[in-house]
Amino acid sequence: AKWVYTFGDGKAEGAADMRDLLGGKGANLAEMSSLGLPVPPGFTITTEVCTWYYANGQAYPDDLKGQVDEALSHVGRLVGRGFGDADNPLLVSVRSGARASMPGMMDTVLNLGLNDVTVEALAARAGDRRFAYDSYRRFIQMYSNVVLGLDHHNFEDILEIYKETNGHELDTDLSSQDWQEIVRQYKTRVEEELGEPFPQDPSAQLWGAIGAVFGSWRNQRANTYRRLHNIPESWGTAVNVQAMVFGNMGETSATGVAFTRNPSTGENSLYGEFLVNAQGEDVVAGIRTPQDLTEAARVAAGSSKSSLESLMPESFAEFNRICGILETHYRDMQDLEFTIEQGKLWMLQTRAGKRTAKAALRVAVEMAEEGLVTPEEAVRRIDPAALDQLLHPTIAPNAERNAIARGLPASPGAAQGEIVFDADTAEKMRADGHAVILVRVETSPEDIHGMHAAEGILTTRGGMTSHAAVVARGMGKPCVSGAGMIRVDYARGTMVAGGTTLRKGDVITIDGATGEVLLGKVPMQQPELSGEFASLMKFADGTRRMKVRANAETPADARTAREFGAEGIGLCRTEHMFFEEGRIVAVREMILADAESGRRAALAKILPMQRQDFRELFEIMAGLPVTIRLLDPPLHEFLPHEEEDLAEVAASIGADIEKLRARVQDMHEFNPMLGHRGCRLGITYPEIYEMQARAIFEAAIEAADKTGSPVTPEIMVPLVATREELDVLKQRIVAVAEAVNREKGTAIEYQIGTMIELPRAALRAAEIAETAEFFSFGTNDLTQTTFGISRDDSARFLAEYVEKGLLPVDPFVTLDRDGVGELVRTAAERGRSTRPGIKLGICGEHGGDPDSIAFCETIGLDYVSCSPYRVPIARLAAAQAAL
Ligand code: ADP
Ligand code: MG
Ligand code: MG
Repeated sequence: AKWVYTFGDGKAEGAADMRDLLGGKGANLAEMSSLGLPVPPGFTITTEVCTWYYANGQAYPDDLKGQVDEALSHVGRLVGRGFGDADNPLLVSVRSGARASMPGMMDTVLNLGLNDVTVEALAARAGDRRFAYDSYRRFIQMYSNVVLGLDHHNFEDILEIYKETNGHELDTDLSSQDWQEIVRQYKTRVEEELGEPFPQDPSAQLWGAIGAVFGSWRNQRANTYRRLHNIPESWGTAVNVQAMVFGNMGETSATGVAFTRNPSTGENSLYGEFLVNAQGEDVVAGIRTPQDLTEAARVAAGSSKSSLESLMPESFAEFNRICGILETHYRDMQDLEFTIEQGKLWMLQTRAGKRTAKAALRVAVEMAEEGLVTPEEAVRRIDPAALDQLLHPTIAPNAERNAIARGLPASPGAAQGEIVFDADTAEKMRADGHAVILVRVETSPEDIHGMHAAEGILTTRGGMTSHAAVVARGMGKPCVSGAGMIRVDYARGTMVAGGTTLRKGDVITIDGATGEVLLGKVPMQQPELSGEFASLMKFADGTRRMKVRANAETPADARTAREFGAEGIGLCRTEHMFFEEGRIVAVREMILADAESGRRAALAKILPMQRQDFRELFEIMAGLPVTIRLLDPPLHEFLPHEEEDLAEVAASIGADIEKLRARVQDMHEFNPMLGHRGCRLGITYPEIYEMQARAIFEAAIEAADKTGSPVTPEIMVPLVATREELDVLKQRIVAVAEAVNREKGTAIEYQIGTMIELPRAALRAAEIAETAEFFSFGTNDLTQTTFGISRDDSARFLAEYVEKGLLPVDPFVTLDRDGVGELVRTAAERGRSTRPGIKLGICGEHGGDPDSIAFCETIGLDYVSCSPYRVPIARLAAAQAAL
């Protein structure tokens, strides 16, 4: 078998697309070599050897040694030296390189092949003893640490003591005699520690280093890193052996690292650092302060140390040219490592550069504008989740983070304000011009107004799908949930985190992207929604098939949704309107009424308010579709549950407290999620849905008159299980439409459809579609009812399921394709079988989740609907799904 691939001298046996076999570093060294770039020659031992090594009790294939020897001679011929040659020695580096870059792996060993004999030859050839012994001491330290397992301190101590006793400040102050003496002490220390001398045989050194690379594939650090990043153990690592070039050969030599574009801003200008007369990791090790590559960067940083551009203009120009070649060739921003040996530039590594979300956006869009990549490719390159970071204010990158607690990153963005512990106070303080953070143990629907008023929400209980998390994401507000180490004392009005006690009015900052809770007002930065962001959205819109709508009911949300590019409303939850100031009283009157006539009287008070709500929504959404869900939650949600609230509510609606208490008890349900809610309310109290339908139709007429762009209301009946339920309700709604048409002399266009959120409805979709003109998949409830898991109670065990691998992800966050997805697919097919072309959408939380959106594309849904702040993410994810 072929275990070894060579590169160098404008040729290579490998190529960039062979990274599985050669690892990322080896594949790109081969590619650069084939491109004719100056790469020190070398060879790559494949990842298959690593696999073989572990499959065979940490041994090597028989024919490996021969192939390595041959490759070594080949490299030697190319550079005109011999490995282990006493007169003209070839020195090499031994570098690990997995498919994915892995910080847990073995560190690189440089200058391998040096011993007491070859170091003299190196000195003689270079005419520079200092350089030779500097290289040797580096080699002994690295090899002893990385391969022999000796602690760095052994060597650092020796060097420090030596410098101190001899009055030297910097490493560069040391002469050849100094380094020679240090090498002697190093070797003595190795022998003391290990009981045997430092290995002098270059071949033994080489195989020691190769073994260390393969051994490191399964060390603790690497295992942990692999687990965290889902890198399979079966991949293995490659080993690269490469001829040394020397950045430590005096003032005309240097070593450095660079990005072809700025990795934090994305700006199209070379960015990097270097050190004169240095080797390898000196630049990142922080031994000396590195210098800027470009003159512009030096000036901007106000540095007095020369740039590479001014110090070595020819090498710089050559490097700049190569950056251009590599960026064009790989069509992406590159992260490069280079060395200059006595004025000659050598390339040692290239790879796609890691970048911030902001830089990723700018680089992708600018590369598309430069014609380097297609718009589709730019779309593909942006992680929708990363886009989320860009849509909210965030903590400034260099701000000091003084975290007092940590919870779950429940809703992205950062927020700051004075802490308050209840919704009413939040609202009041907001009205007085204060920015507040609402801190609760957990939130409930009664806290909505406080959540609206707050800049952000912090809870000490509840998971990523707790009420606080879901509502906050819907509102686009930062939220940290489940910060269990914080103790909230409502009675005292304090929260205690670690040793810190905070009172109402104290200022905190929460970071919904990391889950951190920070003390005080931390510097923030605002999102930028124009420029590259707008360009990327344009690219995405040109690519996607599915429409993107928003879940919104308030005018503010609807406006935000439109600004973010929503193409209609996919879910308007009318119950949210019932909670609003001024109407909750009428709603409670309706619920307390003994007979239909009483309910109708109360509903008559709500009608104009609902009409006004819908009218505003229709005006904002002029020309676009709006789906309105009729009342869904059980009515007791609108009644007070705490004893202390009863009296107040009774007074406000002029009811007897005993009667109210009796009604609350009467309406108690053991399992409200599966109780008297959804269309079941419409069946038992048809007058509620009739009022809502009338409000919708009248509003549609008024809005169309005003804007001239009619909306088509889509009336959606929730929680349907049987076709008969929908038949009954549809008849009622049609009757209202006809009545309104008669009264106003109009002919309103509208559709009546249903949510598919119960397994039975999904299975019976064929017959339901005979009545329903559209389906909207309510995947929150569908997930609850398919798994039989209550979302509100799932936090206690779901995380453990995910941790133990029983579920790949939280099914309330990412749609469970195998189970819930199967029902959605089935319902879509069956619905289309009786009503070809039936409009299909999704309006659960999943409508804003990229992976779930990809699934929606595969089954051909017409649109996804998500919270307004997720609309751009959904536009991008839908575009990626269509590619
Ligand atoms: P990492 O994966 O940690 O970046 P590398 O294998 O890239 O490790 O090696 C680190 C550094 O060592 C390189 O950036 C380069 O400066 C130096 N280096 C590696 N190989 C050579 C070589 N053949 N000649 C000179 N320097 C080298
Ligand atoms: Mg490197
Ligand atoms: Mg539902």
